[in-house]
Formats: sequence, structure tokens, C-alpha cells
Amino acid sequence: MNQEVEIVECLIIGSGPAGYTAAIYAARADMKPVMYEGLQPGGQLTITTDVENYPGYPDGIMGPEMMDNFKKQAVRLGADVRYGLITKVDFSKRPFICIADETKEIHAKTVIIATGASAKWLGIPSEQRLNGSGVSACAVCDGFFYRGKDVAIVGAGDTACEEASYLAKLCTKVHMIVRRDEFRASKAMQHRVMNTPNIEIHFNSETDEILGDNVVTGVRIKNTKDNSTKEIDITGFFVAIGHTPNTGIFKGQLDMDEQGYLITKHDSTYTNIEGVFACGDAQDKIYRQAVTAAGSGCMAALDAERWLSAQE
Ligand code: NDP
Repeated sequence: MNQEVEIVECLIIGSGPAGYTAAIYAARADMKPVMYEGLQPGGQLTITTDVENYPGYPDGIMGPEMMDNFKKQAVRLGADVRYGLITKVDFSKRPFICIADETKEIHAKTVIIATGASAKWLGIPSEQRLNGSGVSACAVCDGFFYRGKDVAIVGAGDTACEEASYLAKLCTKVHMIVRRDEFRASKAMQHRVMNTPNIEIHFNSETDEILGDNVVTGVRIKNTKDNSTKEIDITGFFVAIGHTPNTGIFKGQLDMDEQGYLITKHDSTYTNIEGVFACGDAQDKIYRQAVTAAGSGCMAALDAERWLSAQE
């Protein structure tokens, strides 16, 4: 098939805080970065409301507006930001060949991967309907709005335990909904939640329905042993059942852990392929904050620029 071919110095795949920050730094280093924004331009922050923990915004800022500002800054400095999708990559030789929108072949001297991760959801209709109106997948982002209130969190891994502990400091009561009769989290995290007086753990429980017309007012949970149900009054419902890194197209080419998170070399953004760098949530399952993603995006652009200079 005859495809249009374009040669670029630095291709950035993905457009959250990591991707845009990489674009800002790469543009200022005169690498003429080309960014493909992906299916959700701006990434996960575009589905949150107020962001109050990103330094530099004393009054907070809405997630979508912040991402729009990131983009404007990258574009003003010369990044070529495109709405589109990289669907296939070949990192076996240089320049790297990446297919954009099934129609264009990009030959990239360096590639920065900033494809992020997506929160997993339960998949029930009330969760979707009340998303942003009491339903959230990020306690660190949204917990503050439920100070002095009762909330629920579903999940039993390290993230759920960490987020339940975080919420317990802000909220009057945290109901933890655990589908089996045990946690998946590490023992230390389990002990922490079990020894926090205002966390109540509901084992063998599934979320039947999140209640509320326009905002969350409660949750109905179902006991998986006897099918009995009960309703709990809450104003916030947090989902913490894991994330999926958006790294499927790199399988077989880049080193990743068993969950698909890209593995970068210690204290850098180098992947196992020289010239391909990874930043943001696609390679970070621990911190997952806008500010840490932005920091690693900066690192990726600096790594790419230095690596390319050394080649030339
Ligand atoms: P995990 O995949 O470890 O845990 C997901 C949890 O969600 C499991 O308890 C699972 O239940 C539950 N779950 C999944 N689907 C559903 C569903 N449909 N309904 C109800 N419950 C569901 O994800 P985490 O985000 O917790 O952690 C990801 C990785 O990151 C882990 O390796 C973790 O150790 C690591 N991590 C480390 C931290 C740290 O070291 N400080 C902090 C946070 C994460 P079940 O157990 O029944 O399968």
C-alpha cells in the first residue's frame, strides 16, 4: 500500500500532562515535535473537575481548562499538535516507523510515549450517569470535596487501600466495598485500613446500584453469599479497581511488566529501545499525578534531545 511518508525528529504519542510537557521542552530544544493526541485529547484530566493540587494555581483550575492551557503553551512554542491516533509502530530499526490514522507513515528519529492509563470502571449505568456528580476514580483529585461527609470506595488492592486511608483523613466515614472475603492489597496496606476506626469494610459485597437523581445520595450493595442488599447513605462514590496502561500497540517491542506498564531504566525515561522514551502514567503505576506526569514528560524530552545530539 502506498502511504504518505513524513520524517520527524521527535514524535510524541499521547497528550496528557506528560505529552504536552514533553512537547513544550522538545519544541524549545528545536526538535520540532509532532504530537498525536490520541482518542482522548488532554487525557484523564479532561474528565475531572477542579484540580487543586497542581502547583501554580492558587485558586485551583478545571481539569479541561488546564489541559487546554498545556496545549496552547505547546503550540505557541512550535509543537505540531494533531488530532489523530498512532495505530501501529515498528521500533525494530531506525528511523522508527509509526502509522498515523492508518493513512500516514511517520519516520521518527525519536519517539516519546505518553499514552497514559485509563481507570477501570464497574460498568453499571448509574456509575456513568453520576460520573462527575459524586462518582470519581481518583480520591486524591476529588476527595477534598467530601470533607466531613460519608463516602464509599470500591476495590481491595493497594490503590483502594491507599485511597481509603486518604479519604478517612478527610471524611467522617469511609465504606469500603470488597467483592471477595479478602483483600488483594499488601499486608501493610490491609492493616492500615483495618486499623482506621472510620473505615468500615463490607466484605463479599458488590455494588448493585449507585443511588441519586442528579448527585450521589447513596449506594445499594449486594452480599454475594446470600444475595441480601442494603443501602448506605453517602455523597461520594470512588472506584479504585485498577488502571489499564494504554500500551497495547507496543507489546512485543517494549519491555513492560505483567500489567502492561512500560519499564524505563532507573532514573531516566529510556526504554529498552534506544531512541524510544516513555513518560507519564504509561510507565508509572505508583504516583499517577498530573505534576509527576508533567515532570517525567520534561525528563523524556531532555533525554530524547541529549540522545539525538549524541547520535549526530
Ligand atoms: P489491583 O489490580 O492490584 O487491584 C484491583 C482491585 O480491584 C482488586 O482487589 C480487585 O478485586 C478489585 N476489582 C477489580 N474489578 C472489580 C470489580 N468489577 N468490582 C469490584 N472490585 C473489583 O489494582 P491497584 O490499582 O490497586 O494496584 C495496581 C498495582 O499498583 C498493584 O501492583 C499495586 O501493588 C501497585 N500499587 C502500589 C502502591 C504502593 O506501593 N504504594 C500504591 C498503589 C498501587 P479482586 O481482588 O477480587 O480481584
